[in-house]
Amino acid sequence: MAKFTVNPALEAMLARMVAPHVQRIAFQVEIEAKRLAPATKRWITMADDQVRPTHAKMQGQLVPANLRFSVPSMDWDRQHRGVGRATYMKSPRDQTSRAVANLKNCRCTVSLDPEGIARNITTGQPVISGKKVTVTVTARTPMVVEAEVGTVYPDGLTAEGTHFMARAAAAVAART
Ligand SMILES: [Zn+2]
Repeated sequence: MAKFTVNPALEAMLARMVAPHVQRIAFQVEIEAKRLAPATKRWITMADDQVRPTHAKMQGQLVPANLRFSVPSMDWDRQHRGVGRATYMKSPRDQTSRAVANLKNCRCTVSLDPEGIARNITTGQPVISGKKVTVTVTARTPMVVEAEVGTVYPDGLTAEGTHFMARAAAAVAART
């Protein structure tokens, strides 16, 4: 009785032949992900001696645009507005954060960077293991997981996920 088994050397050769194709697909996912990735936003203070201490700490802080900044709370808001140690703001003076004192007379602004996540999305080299070919598309930005799937803050506020990586993969899968 004869039994046919694929020569491991042949499997490896086939994997090497397929690898460039897999990598081309991964590059398409990278391009789509860059198109769909949310911006990042940076908290900017007036950087003078009038900036309250809770906002001075925020100078330069960066988060994906769909998320909230985590701002140190002010005592009045903790006592009267039920916020915790942090106040979660989409932007300076964000009334949905439930704070009052921490918004009053605030002159801070936000600086948007449309490419903040996109420029950190890369495609790796194909990794061949037996007959398996893997190419990984990676997005390296602080809080990128929350940018993808969203998050819930300790006081019950939420941020919707943008699902840019999942949508990129789905878009490429739909046309290949
Ligand atoms: Zn401010």
